Amino acid sequence: MKWSPEVYKEVWNALSAKGNLNACKSCYASNGFDLIPGFFMQMIIQDPTSPPVPGEPVQAIPTVVTVCVNCGQLTQYAMGQVLGVHFSEEAVRVGTTQ
Ligand SMILES: [Zn+2]
Repeated sequence: MKWSPEVYKEVWNALSAKGNLNACKSCYASNGFDLIPGFFMQMIIQDPTSPPVPGEPVQAIPTVVTVCVNCGQLTQYAMGQVLGVHFSEEAVRVGTTQ
C-alpha cells in the first residue's frame, strides 16, 4: 500500500469511525486533528545496545499518526487496527529504499 489522497481519506474515515478523532486524549480539546500524510514504521529490535545493521531486514509495525491542533500531542495508530492491513510477516530493510 502506497500513501495517496485516497489512503489519506480511508485512514481518516477509519479513525473517525472508531472515535479516535473525537477529543484529544492529552488536553481533551475537540478542536480537531491533522493526519500526518504518510506511514511511520516502528522497528522491532531485541537488543537496543546492538542497533540494526544497514541493509539487513528487521520487523516493523506500520502506523499512522495524528496531531492535536490544540496541544500538538502526537498519537500513533497501528495500521492493522486502523485498516486491517497487517505487515507483521514482512520485514523492512534498514538503510535502504526497498
Ligand atoms: Zn491536545
